[in-house]
Amino acid sequence: MIKVYNTMSRSKEIFKPQKEGEVSIYCCGVTPYSAPHIGNARPFVTWDVIRRYFAKIGYKVRYIQNFTDVDDKIIKAANEQGVTWKDISEKYIGVYFKSMDALNIKHADIYPKVSETMGDIINMVQTLIDKGFAYVLENGDVFYSVEKDKSYGKLSKRELTDMMAGARVAVDERKKHPMDFALWKSAKPGEPSWDSPWGKGRPGWHIECSAMSLKYLGEKFDFHGGGSDLIFPHHENEIAQSESAIGEENSFAQYWVHNGFITKGNQKVSKSDKAMAKSSKGFFTVEDILSKYPGEVIRLLLLQTHYRNQLEFDEDRVKEAQEFYGKLAKAYWQLDDLARKTHAGEFVKDKEDKNFAVIASKACALSDLGERLLSNFYAAMSDDFNTALAITYMFEYAREISNYYSEFIDGKVDTLKIDDKVILRVQEIYLEMASIIGIFEQPVPQEKSEEPAAAPELVNALMDIILSIRQDARAAKNWATSDKIRDALKEAGIVVEDTPQGATWHRQ
Ligand SMILES: [Zn+2]
Repeated sequence: MIKVYNTMSRSKEIFKPQKEGEVSIYCCGVTPYSAPHIGNARPFVTWDVIRRYFAKIGYKVRYIQNFTDVDDKIIKAANEQGVTWKDISEKYIGVYFKSMDALNIKHADIYPKVSETMGDIINMVQTLIDKGFAYVLENGDVFYSVEKDKSYGKLSKRELTDMMAGARVAVDERKKHPMDFALWKSAKPGEPSWDSPWGKGRPGWHIECSAMSLKYLGEKFDFHGGGSDLIFPHHENEIAQSESAIGEENSFAQYWVHNGFITKGNQKVSKSDKAMAKSSKGFFTVEDILSKYPGEVIRLLLLQTHYRNQLEFDEDRVKEAQEFYGKLAKAYWQLDDLARKTHAGEFVKDKEDKNFAVIASKACALSDLGERLLSNFYAAMSDDFNTALAITYMFEYAREISNYYSEFIDGKVDTLKIDDKVILRVQEIYLEMASIIGIFEQPVPQEKSEEPAAAPELVNALMDIILSIRQDARAAKNWATSDKIRDALKEAGIVVEDTPQGATWHRQ
């Protein structure tokens, strides 16, 4: 059972796909007029994990994300830089992919662009006019009439009267209602425009997502997502347009999933906030951050907070995440080493050894623990995609793997053949968790080995010889030699203890 927090009902609901075994998702993409900042990246990392999770549990996932490539900000940037709107959008779509690829975000099935969906957008506007939900002004502007939609405000839980009271901007006198919004804007000099039944112009912002999601996912698709700042007016307007055009309530997205803001000093990270970009001193765009820290660390940091919660982002937190990532990476390499050694039968010794049962059961216990943690991991993911909790299970497993590995290397486990299938299962579980979180897909950093990996059986054999020589010295009451051996071993990190049964040793 998968539970999803639906912004529409403001509660967690049990997820029921529209088509058995399939999941359809539409997430609002970026307006490519500048490099994406860390706040932009959050919804895409969130949806990437959700997609991976659904795919892992057997769903066929279809994911659509748009590029708003026709927009005021793009036109403004193009005019300022003396290039075309297409130059700007293509340049920043390139930057978008570079940044998101570094965060291991899988590509969408389709990335529709406004400029390539114009026919569908125009058809949808025409349908809204035909059905009486939209009106055309003399100059060719087309507006959606919010009063015609009885359920307008249902996502943001706002009443039309409240919205009017809150409207501070000067109201366009030509509108029938102050909250009416543009579906089509007539052409202005120096701006790109397309032919339409209402003359040359370009679409308003909201209509593109209605046209694109319905085109590629059909009515009643499963998920619609984006940052929580899109709830109003963007998603509210998408619902109004789509359901009016279809002519049926609840005929658009079934689950509305919104991620919380990223903040810096408790202030929302936003592109429009130039002061913040400036005060961030080169630690604002994904590109900036990636020049200092690995993408997988940034990804992990973003997922260590539940997607609906606000996330305070600063360099100290990135450093913490890097340390955390380092521990996960360490267990990754330790498992690699264990798998290699056990598989190669490097440490084969007589199974009659009295410790065999104890040691074999330790490996089995690690594998059993993994099954339990994996089940907890999936339970966390199925409870509104709680990556924050899921990651703690992965971390717990990493710690246990490292503990086991230390015992192995310290010679407590090393001299016996461990069933390689058990270790391979441990590795499989660990990598399954990683594949959903979406890490270890780039070269995993490997710490320099803390000590030269002397073969444990060799160490054991040498220690037997050394302790036997020391025993001879003690028998001859040659205390100086006996102490010299003990002290030299201590210097080398090996502690010798004399017991009534003879001398024993262990690493410090
Ligand atoms: Zn959108």
